[in-house]
Amino acid sequence: MITTDICIIGAGPVGLFAVFEAGLLKMRCHLIDALPQVGGQLSEIYPQKPIYDIPGYPAINAQALVDNLMEQIAPFTPGFTLGERVEGLDRQHDGSYIVTTNDGTTVHCQVVVIAGGLGCFEPRKPDIINLERFEGKGVAYMVKNPEQLRDRRVVLAGGGDSALDWAVFLADVASEVTLVHRSDTFRGAPDSAEKVFRLASQGRINLVLQSNITSIHGNGHLQEVSITAKDKTVTTLAADHLIPLFGLTPKLGPIADWGLPSTNRQSTLIQRITPPTSNGFMPLAILTPIRES
Ligand SMILES: Cc1cc2nc3c(=O)[nH]c(=O)nc-3n(C[C@H](O)[C@H](O)[C@H](O)COP(=O)(O)OP(=O)(O)OC[C@H]3O[C@@H](n4cnc5c(N)ncnc54)[C@H](O)[C@@H]3O)c2cc1C
Repeated sequence: MITTDICIIGAGPVGLFAVFEAGLLKMRCHLIDALPQVGGQLSEIYPQKPIYDIPGYPAINAQALVDNLMEQIAPFTPGFTLGERVEGLDRQHDGSYIVTTNDGTTVHCQVVVIAGGLGCFEPRKPDIINLERFEGKGVAYMVKNPEQLRDRRVVLAGGGDSALDWAVFLADVASEVTLVHRSDTFRGAPDSAEKVFRLASQGRINLVLQSNITSIHGNGHLQEVSITAKDKTVTTLAADHLIPLFGLTPKLGPIADWGLPSTNRQSTLIQRITPPTSNGFMPLAILTPIRES
């Protein structure tokens, strides 16, 4: 059994930074993550996406941020169990916890920090005819390596931060970037939306508003995207890649079955699940970020 002060469930950015804060208090941490690598959504979903809202960094790639976090916590020598999913959380008579994974790894600790983010996440898929037929053949729900899109015709769909950020970034990479959005206003950050409108006015992004992609076609690989406007007119666009960016469906998995109160992701930074002990420890806490996607 692994023994530590704090067991952190989730090695995303929140879990990693918790190691730093705990280290300042001279507390040792062990992190467990279901993914085979650290970094949570940043490493798994968008390692090469630029992030614009980290204090002190005008722009930083997601993977670079994770690498920096790892460098920052290295002096505190945390332990890692990767590629294993936490299934059990058992409180002991003395108030400590035993955390168990699906592979039978057990961690004994005084404090459990749940930094599970969205848990095990899946992309939300829009209702587009033939969408699943072209998955891996031009259709992807995340951009893992933007170099694969260099000099290609890329269609993005969505109106949130990811769609906006990628449209801005890919304007310098792809041969053609089209952003299709059902409305004429964006949910994402106003500054990013402004950049997209500016690039569109310069002819560097095709902006197709008040429209939805309704079907896609190709011969073994994606070749065409059909777009239906609000007035029902249909246009067809040649495309090599379609990336629908409609967020993720949160699947907390086992954590959802532990009877913990749900968190308000927009506003909760730290949620106490159990009252602090007499020595001031908060035995079980959920950490959530301000922004989820
Ligand atoms: C495409 C996209 C773009 C984004 N862009 C930005 C941006 O530009 N700026 C910004 O501020 N935010 C952005 N976000 C949001 C940001 O990624 C999240 O807010 C952040 O990842 C949350 O960090 P976290 O550590 O709480 O959770 P996560 O990154 O979700 O990490 C949680 C980890 O917990 C693990 N886990 C969950 N349950 C278990 C379990 N039972 N056992 C073991 N492991 C478990 C998961 O495998 C995961 O690795 C974006 C999100 C997406 C999807």
